[in-house]
Amino acid sequence: MADQLIRATAANGGIRAVGVITTRAVEEARRRHSLSYVASAALGRAMSSGLLLASSMKKEGSRVNINIKGNGPLGTVFVDAGLDGTVRGYVQNPKVELPPNAIGKLDVGGAVGNDGYLYVIRDVGYGYPYSSTVELISGEVGEDIANYLATSEQTPSALLVGVFVGKDGVTASGGILLQVLPKAAENPTLVETLESRVSQLKGFTPLLQQGKTLSDIFRDLLGDFDLEIFPEVQMVRFDCGCSFDRILGALKMLGAEELEDMIVKDGGAEATCHFCGEVYQANVEDLTQLIEDLQQVGI
Ligand code: ZN
Repeated sequence: MADQLIRATAANGGIRAVGVITTRAVEEARRRHSLSYVASAALGRAMSSGLLLASSMKKEGSRVNINIKGNGPLGTVFVDAGLDGTVRGYVQNPKVELPPNAIGKLDVGGAVGNDGYLYVIRDVGYGYPYSSTVELISGEVGEDIANYLATSEQTPSALLVGVFVGKDGVTASGGILLQVLPKAAENPTLVETLESRVSQLKGFTPLLQQGKTLSDIFRDLLGDFDLEIFPEVQMVRFDCGCSFDRILGALKMLGAEELEDMIVKDGGAEATCHFCGEVYQANVEDLTQLIEDLQQVGI
């Protein structure tokens, strides 16, 4: 099934539901960054979470950044996701692999680490991003994002994200987010019911592997709560805003002396975008032009 995001409401608008499929986007991230199994799972869970968080923003162009800094060997896990369904991200140490955990699953918690911080930055495009930080509780990503929503945004939420990665790469990835809105939050049984239903699912990717659509999953979970699935389907894709011009801009910041040095020693410059792994080559002509530009403005 194509990568996509759909929304629904239930319980007369008291429950907000969002579901996302990110299989292709996470496979593209895996390929671009040569991610290990556990790095694919960690970044994939964070990519799905980013898209789910961004989906509640209203203003066109809004984006969410998720920055997970745990004490595990993966190092930083960073995701940038937009309301428009675009997502990109990277892992600091993409080759780290760990043995399966006690229940035979990819040890995302061990790779990320359970000591550290989760930063969520919401940017609505006005230049004053809203940032919020919580301590990591498990490093499993999904639990940490759910904890962030409960403590920082004070919205009782049930979140499930998952990635299946095998020898053929990422073959299933995505997640669902169910939130109880203030008008229904005083009903404690509603929150408990949702949490227990989601916890009974035993993972998100088995549902995709059974051939279920996001609508099927919503119907299974919320069919008895006046479920209303919105007809709009938001397409989701891995997308990075980098370009040769932006890389030249970054090179220019190094200054004329450094650029001269690159011409003499390396005969050009190679720069890799850390968000998407794209490699850009600037030749002697490009660098000479940058130096001329710098000299013209007298820097
Ligand atoms: Zn890029």
